[in-house]
Amino acid sequence: MSALETHELTLYSIILFLLLESLIDIYLSLRQLRVYHECKTVPKELRHVMDAETFEKARVYGLDKANYGLFKTIVCGIVIAVLELYYGFMALVWLRSTQLSGWFGLDPTSEIHVGCLFSLLLNVVGVLKEIPFKIYGTFVLEERHGFNKQTAGFFVKDQIKAFVVAQVLTLPVSAVFIYIVQIGGQYFFLWLWAFVGVLTLILIMIYPVYIAPIFDKFRPLEDGELKSNIHELANRVKFPLGQLFVVEGSKRSAHSNAYFTGLFGVKRIVLFDTLLLNKGLPEDDSTLTDSDKGKGCKNEEVLAVLAHEIGHWKLGHVSKNIIIIQVQLFLIFLVFSQLFNYAPLYEAVGLPAGEKPILIGFMVIVMYVLAPYNTLISFAMTIMSRRFEYQADAFAVELGYAKELGQALIKLQVDNLGFPVYDWMYSSWNHSHPTLLQRLERLNTDGKKKR
Ligand SMILES: [Zn+2]
Repeated sequence: MSALETHELTLYSIILFLLLESLIDIYLSLRQLRVYHECKTVPKELRHVMDAETFEKARVYGLDKANYGLFKTIVCGIVIAVLELYYGFMALVWLRSTQLSGWFGLDPTSEIHVGCLFSLLLNVVGVLKEIPFKIYGTFVLEERHGFNKQTAGFFVKDQIKAFVVAQVLTLPVSAVFIYIVQIGGQYFFLWLWAFVGVLTLILIMIYPVYIAPIFDKFRPLEDGELKSNIHELANRVKFPLGQLFVVEGSKRSAHSNAYFTGLFGVKRIVLFDTLLLNKGLPEDDSTLTDSDKGKGCKNEEVLAVLAHEIGHWKLGHVSKNIIIIQVQLFLIFLVFSQLFNYAPLYEAVGLPAGEKPILIGFMVIVMYVLAPYNTLISFAMTIMSRRFEYQADAFAVELGYAKELGQALIKLQVDNLGFPVYDWMYSSWNHSHPTLLQRLERLNTDGKKKR
């Protein structure tokens, strides 16, 4: 231990784990890349629904995305991340924030003032790091495969809105966070937990009503057969259905989905317009482009997708996830309260001895000290999520939607040019949903059992 000081050892352990994690990531991506390169014929289960041309398009799209993902992991996950750690980037931003705070009319001796400026600067840098990747991803990669529906103007506006909303949320939260740690006494973690716990619940409630509409256009689902069918389905399973919306997800990208929101009481169901046949519009609607036409699911298939979503609610998946999040938060704050006075953590990321900004302590503990734990938990959560998906599928099967759900899953996969073949190791590490083939197989056996 004589040659290495504790904070250096801490830094090198952090970097080592970060590299290890990225290497696992890269190894798995390479396995999947090999699948994209080698698997050139449609799996026999899909031959009647996916033609060779679509399959080839999906393969090239998947290959493109995977190569790009690999490049991004190497640049962001390894090069930038290691340089930032090694050269004490976080400490640098903190010291700059202290220097600049007077300039912004803030008090440089107030940790809350400096902390807010620190959050802001860190977010600005974060955006600058992300933006070239987003631009390439949207306007080159997705564009090349026909999925980008954003104009440059929409993109810029969207990014600005996202930045402003993020600041409106993070700055006050940072301030209250620091304040609670400062005055909370020995058991401050309990106060932090209560604060953040309640805040997440509030956010889950207000997000769909007040925040999501800032970004996307929502229209109520037109009266008609689909709407009355959905209400019948909701009545049948006693789902407290409130309003039904269609969101113009197709402005952002052409990837389709459906979800429901609302914690207590009535829930709203949101359908992406890309889920609906011809975006839920009449076939001759002037806004429909040729590539939109014929895409989306028939009413019965939309109902099957909703039966699956309602299954998540009926089986308590939503509440289970919320409870898990709350337990996680509790553990994180508990560990934070036990470790945040440990000086080497701060020196490891480049702060001068004796300086212990609360926000940096929290970030170092959550992002780096807990990294191995986070990795394990997220793997466990992925496994659980796949189980939940099977259970929700089984729920839809119980309601008699086995065939329609299968058709819908295939339709969505084809519309989105999803590649249906995956390396098993890559898939078990990365996929929150079972693959299409796995789900179809299960639907098939469950559907037979039912009949
Ligand atoms: Zn699901």
